[in-house]
Amino acid sequence: MDLTVDGLTVEYTSAGYVVLALDNLSFRANSGELVLLLGPSGSGKTTLLSCLAAILKPTRGTISFGETAVTGLTGKALTEYRRSTVGIVFQSFNLVPSLTALENVDSPLRAGGVSAKLARERAASLLEQVGLSDRAHHRPGGLSGGQQQRVAIARALGNDPPLLLADEPTAHLDYSQVEIVLRLLRSLAAPGRVVVVSTHDERIVPLADRVIELTGELPTGETKKRKLKADEVLFEEGTRGTLVYIVDSGQIEITRPAPGGGEQVLATYGPKEYFGELAPLLGFPRAGTARAVKNSTVTGLTVAEFRQMVGSAKIATLLGKAGTSKGRSNGAARRTPRKADARKSRGSRPRG
Ligand code: ADP
Ligand code: MG
Repeated sequence: MDLTVDGLTVEYTSAGYVVLALDNLSFRANSGELVLLLGPSGSGKTTLLSCLAAILKPTRGTISFGETAVTGLTGKALTEYRRSTVGIVFQSFNLVPSLTALENVDSPLRAGGVSAKLARERAASLLEQVGLSDRAHHRPGGLSGGQQQRVAIARALGNDPPLLLADEPTAHLDYSQVEIVLRLLRSLAAPGRVVVVSTHDERIVPLADRVIELTGELPTGETKKRKLKADEVLFEEGTRGTLVYIVDSGQIEITRPAPGGGEQVLATYGPKEYFGELAPLLGFPRAGTARAVKNSTVTGLTVAEFRQMVGSAKIATLLGKAGTSKGRSNGAARRTPRKADARKSRGSRPRG
C-alpha cells in the first residue's frame, strides 16, 4: 500500500490569528519504506502525523493510503481506519503506569474485541518481537526509556497496522537506547507497511528511505535563489526570517533606521559570506533590512542546510554570541566583528 500526500495545508486559528502549520505539502511513499519527517520544533511534524492518523482534518489537500481516501473518511470507515490501519507511537510513550508491559500491549486488543487468551498470546509475541519477553511483567516505572518505547511500539503493532506512525520516538531516550529503537522501527518498514517517523535529529537521516524536510518556512516571499537588482530589498526589518543567506555574487548591506533619520548601515557582505542567520536560528523577526548594493545573487538555506554547511559547533558559537549581545541585530550579525558604518546615511554612502 502506497501513501500519497497531495497539497496538504493545515491552518490553525488561535487567538484570532492564523498559524499555517503545513503549507501545500506533497509527497509519495511506497510500501516497505521508512519515511522520515525531518524538521525543527514547530515545523508541523505532529500536525502531519495527526492528519495521516486521521485525527486531524487538513484545511486543504488530500491523503490516500492504498485504496483509502483518508481525508474523505467519515463515520464507521473513519473509526475502522484509525483502529486497524494506523498504529501510533508517541514521543512520551503514553503507557498506563499501573499496567504491566504485557497488559499495556494486550488491553487495546481486548478493547477491540479480541478474546483475553488470544490478546495475551498476541501481546506476548509482540513483546518478543521487540526483544522484551523478559520484561513482560514489569510496569513502565521499572523499565528504561528505551524499553518503554519498545513496549509502546509493540502496543502500536497490535492490529498489525500497515501504516505505523512514530512522533519523535527517540526524543526522550539516551543515546544508547536510540539505536535499538531505530533499528526496530527500521525492521518494521517491510513490504506491506509504511513507517513514518518524525524527528528533529539529523543523525537519523541515513536510516530513512525517504526524507521529507519540513522547514517551518512561512510564505514570506523568500525563495531559495534570488537575483536582486541594485537597491532591491531581500528582507525587511521586523519580518519573519526562515532562511540564512549566502552571497553568490554582488554585495548585500544590512541597514536599520538611524536615530537621527536616514539609515545606518550595520554591515555589508560580499561573495561567499553569509548573513541573516540568527532570525531563523532563534525565531526572532529580522532586526535589519537586507538590500542589494549592486546587482547580486544570493542563495537561501534552511536552518538544516546551514547547520550542515557550517557544522553544529559553529552554530553553538553563533548562538552563544547572540546570547551575550542583546541589542545585536539578528539580520546583521556577522562572524567577525567589523566596524559598522554607523550613523552614515545611505544617501552619502559610497557604492561599490
Ligand atoms: P512540530 O510537531 O514539528 O513541533 P506542530 O505540528 O506541533 O510542530 O506545530 C506546527 C505549528 O502549528 C506550530 O507553529 C504550532 O505552534 C502550531 N500549532 C500546533 N497545534 C496547534 C493548535 N492546536 N492551535 C494553534 N496552533 C497550533
Ligand atoms: Mg511535535
